[in-house]
Amino acid sequence: MRIALTGTPGTGKTSVSKVLRDRGYDVLDMTQYIKEHDLREEYDSDRDTYDVDVERLNDALAHYDDVIFEGHLAHFMDVDSVIVLRCRPDVMKTRLEARGYDESKVLENIQAEVLDVILFEAVESDIPTFCVDTSHCDVNKTADEIEDVMKGNTLGHMPEDISWAEEMDKWF
Ligand code: ADP
Ligand code: MG
Repeated sequence: MRIALTGTPGTGKTSVSKVLRDRGYDVLDMTQYIKEHDLREEYDSDRDTYDVDVERLNDALAHYDDVIFEGHLAHFMDVDSVIVLRCRPDVMKTRLEARGYDESKVLENIQAEVLDVILFEAVESDIPTFCVDTSHCDVNKTADEIEDVMKGNTLGHMPEDISWAEEMDKWF
């Protein structure tokens, strides 16, 4: 099985990946992979990120089996299912500020989360997509839920089960 673990920055992908590795899963850090394999393209100074050719990345990762791809581009890979981590905007704000992101970068990510950007991209791909809310629980509980979803227990984890739409006015 090839799984994508994706989500807006601050939702908890990297933290929960450490727990999943301790539990014996092979989790590939896509950000690190992209750096190490020179898959970064143009630098986008407006967004302070590098563009990545997702097709090239997908080809490079084609030979991996029984793996969890972790990163905000993971849902663009050829995978059997996608797990989108979600986080309440106010909680995400605290997490991203603690990371030292400036105000505009915090707001950009919160807006992306409120608008379900990554969730929509994943659902559009037609790959089975599930979500896990990391807002108010610890990483071990999040890892439990991810394991549950990977085992097929998807109750409460359908894409429509988590939404911050009622907070739209607050962040726009
Ligand atoms: P991402 O890789 O998605 O950008 P990180 O894992 O780097 O996110 O950051 C998430 C932050 O949220 C960390 O500081 C982590 O300790 C915290 N956190 C709090 N609760 C959770 C949870 N249930 N799952 C994952 N991270 C959590
Ligand atoms: Mg990360």
